Amino acid sequence: MIKPNTIKIEKGFHSRGFKEIEEFSLTPLELEEYLDRYVIGQKEAKALICTKICTHFHKIRHYYLGAKRFPELEFVKNNILMIGPTGVGKTFIIKLISKKLGVPFVKGDATKFSETGYVGGDIEDLIRELYWEANEDLDKAHFGMIFLDEIDKIASSGESVGPDISRTGVQRALLKPLEETKVEIKFPQDGLGGEPEGGFPKKRKRLFLNTRFVLFVAGGAFQGLEEIIKKRLKKSKLGFIAEVESEKEVKLNYMKFVIPEDLVSYGFEREFIGRFPVVAVFDPLTEDELYAILANPNSVIVLNKKRDFKVYGIDLAFTNEALKSIALKAYKHGTGARALVSVLEKLLTPFERVLPSKGINYLAVTKELVEDPEGYLASILNSSGESFYEFYLKALEEEEERFNKWLKAEFQRGKDKFELTPKKAELIFEIYKNREIEAWKAVEELKFLWHQVKNYEKVFEHRTGVKVCFTENAIDEIIEAVLKKNWGVFAYCEKVMSRLEYRLKYLIDEKSRIIYITPQMLKRSSFWGQEAG
Ligand code: ADP
Repeated sequence: MIKPNTIKIEKGFHSRGFKEIEEFSLTPLELEEYLDRYVIGQKEAKALICTKICTHFHKIRHYYLGAKRFPELEFVKNNILMIGPTGVGKTFIIKLISKKLGVPFVKGDATKFSETGYVGGDIEDLIRELYWEANEDLDKAHFGMIFLDEIDKIASSGESVGPDISRTGVQRALLKPLEETKVEIKFPQDGLGGEPEGGFPKKRKRLFLNTRFVLFVAGGAFQGLEEIIKKRLKKSKLGFIAEVESEKEVKLNYMKFVIPEDLVSYGFEREFIGRFPVVAVFDPLTEDELYAILANPNSVIVLNKKRDFKVYGIDLAFTNEALKSIALKAYKHGTGARALVSVLEKLLTPFERVLPSKGINYLAVTKELVEDPEGYLASILNSSGESFYEFYLKALEEEEERFNKWLKAEFQRGKDKFELTPKKAELIFEIYKNREIEAWKAVEELKFLWHQVKNYEKVFEHRTGVKVCFTENAIDEIIEAVLKKNWGVFAYCEKVMSRLEYRLKYLIDEKSRIIYITPQMLKRSSFWGQEAG
């Protein structure tokens, strides 16, 4: 009998699939919601990519894995082509999605193919990397994603280096892997002639990775493509778009009108373009969007900088004005969000170098710091530090305001059972600040603790036969205490309730037969003998 999930899809292709794909249930909107936490702007690209990637995995699950299987069906892949300038989120989105889905992800540069003129080895190496990324789990590797960056550099026209002929050759050589190809996994010992450990020559089973279900995503800036599109639009009746633009004084992203024909004019083989049925166009990031990236409490760019200082025991806080100045500086670089990282590095590295040996534990990143970092550092070093502490507190206040704005929106979107009390907002901010984790993870942490209290209620009822219900405020108090004392929720609740148990019969609400535990009850020593914990 065939094991239910050991399936043979077709000759030469074996994969059992893996749990994440067999149980794949994410909807496009859910995936989009997840991306929204991190990715600012790019609404249309996010919507399209989330939809097509979800459909890709659902199709695999529905037709090729599990009980219902139609292995004979042709699998048409929705490989994705991403068009957009550097640093606007192309790689970021695919990385986030692969992480969320738990599928392996590798990235390679198409320029490497054009320089060597020999694509076979390079693309196969890249495919093999999926196996290592999947922790040597072949079933998992079969469902990975491969990102080919700088794909525009293998167009046969344009200004890239190397003869055109080799670039067309590269495109042709990629056709097969993009669809389906079998690549043998090579192991470090293979072909070296050395004896394996222990001295016994081992016969290894040959492993092959099939790209049938591997999703390919290609990205590039496609400089010069806009001119091709504009020219075509002018010729056709769609020339009115240019008039609309000049009338309304808006700058249109002409890339959004791209059709396969334009990509052919750009220097791609029709067949190659045909392998990418999904084309997602990314917008350049505006100055406001760069600010929004910095102000987003989930932004790893700012969090990473904070972590760099945290290792020296220094807390960083950014004022709104500082973030605006940094966004403006980065905007001028013209390299999208990548510039945010380099601007931050340049500004803050001198502080990172000096402050750890000066016993300073906080730093307010203000507009003044951004405008004159050297002068700012000198004045910190020459001061007693008190006024700078005031600046830090002010910056922290602004940070909390930004955080709360985000938090409110997050809870309005969510379908949670519990409401966001001011105390909960405070606790979430505490978790976020102390652990330097993304804001939504701090929310998850609070929810986790909240659910633990709720579970405790059930366990208590099961054990004693008495139904207890902690009021929302009492739950907040419990969470605050366990965070402060670094206790487990169960242990803390046990301690609290053990002091209460013998009084239970006096506290029971006769009508509802429930005992409501209030913060007063948690606190008042008359109930406990002494304060819990
Ligand atoms: P590219 O578009 O060239 O692939 P990336 O996606 O690698 O650029 O962007 C570089 C970094 O900039 C990302 O890791 C991310 O931190 C940040 N970033 C880029 N675009 C966005 C965006 N739209 N929203 C939030 N962060 C972004």
